[in-house]
Amino acid sequence: MTDLWRLTAHEAHEKLRAREISAVELTESILARVERVEPRVHAYITLTPELALEQAKDADARFAAGTATPLTGIPVGVKDLIVTKGVRTTAASKILENFVPPYDSHVYAQLRRAGAVMVGKANMDEFAMGSSTEHSAFGPSHNPWDTRLVPGGSSGGSAAAVAAGECLVALGSDTGGSIRQPASLCGNVGFDPTYGRVSRYGIIAFGSSLDQVGPIGRDVEDVTTMLDCISGHDPRDSTSNPEPVADLRHYLGRDVRGLRVGVPKEYFIEGMEPGVTARIEESLALLEGLGCIVDRDLSLPSTEHALAVYYIIAPSEASANLARYDGVKYGFSDHSGGSMWADMEATRAHGFGAEVKRRIMLGTYALSAGYYDAYYLKAQKVRTLINREFEAAFQKYDVIVTPTSPTVAFPIGAKVDDPFAMYLNDVYTLPASVAGLPAMSVPCGLSAGLPVGLQIIGNFFDEPRIVQVAHAFERACGFANRVAEL
Ligand code: GLN
Repeated sequence: MTDLWRLTAHEAHEKLRAREISAVELTESILARVERVEPRVHAYITLTPELALEQAKDADARFAAGTATPLTGIPVGVKDLIVTKGVRTTAASKILENFVPPYDSHVYAQLRRAGAVMVGKANMDEFAMGSSTEHSAFGPSHNPWDTRLVPGGSSGGSAAAVAAGECLVALGSDTGGSIRQPASLCGNVGFDPTYGRVSRYGIIAFGSSLDQVGPIGRDVEDVTTMLDCISGHDPRDSTSNPEPVADLRHYLGRDVRGLRVGVPKEYFIEGMEPGVTARIEESLALLEGLGCIVDRDLSLPSTEHALAVYYIIAPSEASANLARYDGVKYGFSDHSGGSMWADMEATRAHGFGAEVKRRIMLGTYALSAGYYDAYYLKAQKVRTLINREFEAAFQKYDVIVTPTSPTVAFPIGAKVDDPFAMYLNDVYTLPASVAGLPAMSVPCGLSAGLPVGLQIIGNFFDEPRIVQVAHAFERACGFANRVAEL
């Protein structure tokens, strides 16, 4: 069997379980695909083929021993801000270009416990700041659907790898849309769980009140399996939630009749591409056809403030989190300064890219004495308003449905010199992030040959409802497991 890289993780699992294929064969198929398409896609910063084959052998042993799980032997891409013991982890920054972590993140340890195979560390925007993967110190990733276009960001490498057949599933992280937006632009499913659902132990921090890890895959079932594997309480992350985790797979294949779907008016803004509007309208009709009660009277008036709130809070937290990169503790250091302070300055001046410096300056300004009340504190108050609106909406609706991104994938270089145009990519994903709510992007068709994503937002810890609606929608829509031919 050749094209094993075309399988979803659950299809591959069936074949592995039936001994039709081995984990080594599956990994070899992925590695051959990587060799063929990676020069055009650049989904990875670091490839780990030897490690992958070793882990695949271990997976075959688990099948032989009867201790396999649904992820045993499944080739996975891991965003390069997820710390992996002994494997270089850069956050796509020059400042960490030589950082080889001495420990594993919780999520990677969970994947390994399940027997998954790591193909490599996926490209991203530096420190997850961006929406196109162009802000990577290692060069941009390309959208497998059309390599002249961006794959979205910041988890663009993870999404591109999944869409190009360079892994079956991947891990990304989402601070303001970084799982959902690239999944949307690459025709994948991306799931950003509730803030606190997944431990961030060993995740390189960006905005600590926003960051969350989650999966990207080719269909709803695969991201569900991944999230089941990584969710749960971890005492090493004080923000990780101790509530018991529902078995999400249980919600696949369920009826959605009678579920109440709210569609907020404020998400249908100027600047949304007509092809995106058309696919979203069709999706709403599809949900109605499935028996959902779709209500378009929902209003979330604070939506328009989410962008401003996010771009105060995220840079403020980033400015504090990134203070640790001083050339002493980790990675790159520049000793040309001649004194401790001058070396630190030189390290940060030459180690960080332009977007990261912009965020540090914005954040430092917003937190400085005299401005803190006007910016940071005010942003936190507006954040509470946004939360309250969602809270009220979830009294009436089971899920809220919106587009994931106002546009399809755009050309590399089109927005990189215009930070505000870049920030506008996130208008639809930021509100759920600011509130800490779970949300999934699921493909809903094409516009001018490029994928469009539908966003399904759920109430706190109501991932089950999202899975239920997304899976029913995916079946009705018939758009799943599309790999780009390249
Ligand atoms: N694009 C947003 C930003 O640049 C979100 C990034 C993210 O979710 N990590 O901050």
